[in-house]
Order: sequence, then C-alpha cells, then structure tokens
Amino acid sequence: MHFSLSEEEEMIRASARRFASERLAPHAAALDRGEGRAALLDNLRDLARNGFAALNAPVEYGGSAAGAVAFALAIEEFAYACAATAVTMSVTNMVAEVIASVGAHEQKAFYLPRIAEGAYCAAGFCLTEAGAGSDPAGMRLSARRDGDFYVLNGEKIYITSAEYAGVFVVWAVTDPTAPKGKGVSVFLVPSDAQGLVIGAPEKKLGQHGSATNAVIFDNCRVPAAALMGRENDGFRVAVGELAGGRIGVAALSLGIARAAMDKAKAYARERTQFGKKLAEFQGLQWMIADRETEIEAARLLILSAAAAKDRGDSFAKAASMAKLFASETAQRATDTAVQIFGGAGYIEETGVARHLRDARITRIYEGSSEIQRLIIARETLK
Ligand SMILES: Cc1cc2nc3c(=O)[nH]c(=O)nc-3n(C[C@H](O)[C@H](O)[C@H](O)COP(=O)(O)OP(=O)(O)OC[C@H]3O[C@@H](n4cnc5c(N)ncnc54)[C@H](O)[C@@H]3O)c2cc1C
Repeated sequence: MHFSLSEEEEMIRASARRFASERLAPHAAALDRGEGRAALLDNLRDLARNGFAALNAPVEYGGSAAGAVAFALAIEEFAYACAATAVTMSVTNMVAEVIASVGAHEQKAFYLPRIAEGAYCAAGFCLTEAGAGSDPAGMRLSARRDGDFYVLNGEKIYITSAEYAGVFVVWAVTDPTAPKGKGVSVFLVPSDAQGLVIGAPEKKLGQHGSATNAVIFDNCRVPAAALMGRENDGFRVAVGELAGGRIGVAALSLGIARAAMDKAKAYARERTQFGKKLAEFQGLQWMIADRETEIEAARLLILSAAAAKDRGDSFAKAASMAKLFASETAQRATDTAVQIFGGAGYIEETGVARHLRDARITRIYEGSSEIQRLIIARETLK
C-alpha cells in the first residue's frame, strides 16, 4: 500500500501549514483565554477564501473537490496551531459535504458558494439533543408539515459554531410513528430563520475559541424546500456523514498530539537537571519513543481511512479506528508533554496545558471512544 501524496495534496498541506503558522498560531493562546473572537472570524473567512471550507464540495459550487486525504492533512495542520479553529473548519466542511451529497441543485447553488467563499464564517451541524447523544436516533426535535412549510420545535445542544454559523443542517423527526431512526429527515435552516434562537455559550474544559451553544427551534417555520434529500431518509445521511467527520476529528487529534510532543522534545533538549539535558534520561526517551510511534500509527490509520473514502470504498470501520486511536494518542501525548515539562507544563504560559485540555473532547465528540469500539466490533463481527 502506498501513501504518497499527490502534488495537489502536498500543496494543500503546505498552504494549510503556512496559514496555520502565520495566522492561527498567533491567536491560539488569546482564543484559549476567551478573547480574540474578531480575529477568529477573520481567519475563518480567509480560510474559506483559500479553499479550506468546502474541501470536498464540487468546484462548480465553489468547492475545492480536493478529497478526504487533503481534508485530513489540512485539519491536522490547523489543529497543530489552534484546535478551536480546526474543529470549526472540520464541522463547516462536514456541513458542506452533506449539502453536496444530498442537497438539490438549488440548495447547493445557494448555500455551497456562501460556505466555500466565506460569506458565512462557519456552518453548523445540529444532531445532538439532551436525550440523544451517543444514540442520535433517539432524537425528539420535530418537523411537522404545514402546507408549503415545515414547523420545527425542539432543542439541539452542544452545537459547534452556533453563534456565527450562517446555516445549519438540522436533523428532525418527520414521522413520529416510524421505527426508531426511520422517521428522521434533514433540513437546511439559515441562522436568521424566524423561531431559531441561539442559547448561552457553554463554558468548556478546552477548545475555548470555538463557540458551543444550544440551538432552540421555537415554532421555526422553514419552506418545504428546506428539506434535503427524501423525507424520512435523514438518519442514513447522518450516519454516513459522521463517518467522514471522524476522519476530521482524528486528524485534529493528530495535530494536537504533534504540537504537544514537538514542544516537549524541544524542552527536553534544552532543560538541564542533575547536570544533564532531560533528553539524556532514558526514562524520558522511552516516553518520547512510545508517543512518536503512536503518532506515526495514528497518521497511517487516518491516511488509510481517508484514502479508502477517496477511492469510494467503505470506510466506516477505518474511520472509527483512526478516530479511536488518534484521539487516545492525543490524550497520552498531551499528558506526556505536560509530564516532560514538569511544573512548567502545569503553567499556562508554556502552552502545553492548552493542548491537554483541547485533546480531552476528541475522545467524546463525533462519537465517543466507546461508540467507536462498538462500531469497530460490529463491523468486525458481522
Ligand atoms: C465541545 C463540544 C462540541 C460538540 N459539537 C457538536 C456539534 O457541532 N453537533 C452535534 O450534533 N453535537 C456536538 N457535540 C455533541 C457530541 O457529539 C456528544 O456530546 C457525544 O456524541 C456524546 O454524547 P453525550 O454527550 O450525550 O454522551 P452520552 O451519550 O450520554 O454518553 C455518556 C457516556 O456513556 C458512554 N456510552 C453511551 N452509550 C454507550 C454504549 N452503547 N456502550 C458503551 N458506552 C456508552 C459514552 O461513551 C460516554 O462515555 C459536541 C459536544 C461537545 C462537548
């Protein structure tokens, strides 16, 4: 199996790396302190103008049609500099991909250019509810047909970018009598739709720069044309898109892991105790060797899943394996980095504490590690 990147993928990675170091890294610490929203939004618009908001959408609708490998490479580079910006870009790309895959021509022609060219800073993916997290088929948000409209009622929670998304893809129950998951449809709802209310920002452990809010639908009327794909076929769409999103979260995890360990390796070469550099202590060398190996293994799993997706092969199991392993790797790598820094690792100024906090959610969102194991086991044993 070959993992050589195409010329276009190399270019996208180089361009993402440059943008990340010049534009994202300088703001990451401020975003982590809850400051710098204007800079974040500027960066999101410019990332879109550079082709990073709709990497998998067709060129005729403004997308980059670059593929899943390019998407993974870009998200990894963004996360290396700023995980909060990376998750925003990952979700926006997921939304663009949903629209590209099931939207009607008019929906694609209206929304995709707005996402792809930065008219919207971000797009939101509304699936989770208070009673439906790991088990999204248990959702309750309802969409009742009323003449030429649907009326949405209910609440989604923990929605990334809710405060500045231009449009949301929203999953809702259209047939409450259907078996679980069979009566769900997916809608496109602009953020200025009447009856759509954004809840207060959640206070989080990490990824502070990315907004996370409830999105409340209070008799929110949308035209019947807001339905994407076929009525009652939305859950299948969600399941398919979550698999693609897992490649994004895996890449994001890899970026965080690399950033933390690069800082730790530099510190180990520079800091002296007992008259020796930390890097000369075998105990620390072994930690570094283990993390280096895991980071490389995570990279290969991500590329393997993304390449399978680009070939049109089934990739759900590969994406779950990549997400599970990369997110657990990020957890270990960021913890190791703090350990190698000693007390300085616990002090915010050195920047490794941020990576530790940012990594924690990667084992939970887009399906927790337990849910990834469930999918891997189901695919393995079927
Ligand atoms: C910062 C942040 C951003 C998010 N962004 C979005 C977003 O943009 N859009 C969106 O729709 N959602 C988003 N989410 C929601 C996220 O995807 C869910 O939190 C996640 O899927 C877990 O659901 P839950 O929180 O309800 O946990 P629960 O489902 O209640 O799970 C609780 C625990 O039980 C375990 N568990 C559950 N079921 C099983 C099982 N069958 N076997 C073994 N263990 C199990 C879980 O692994 C977990 O450890 C976000 C969440 C956060 C915190």
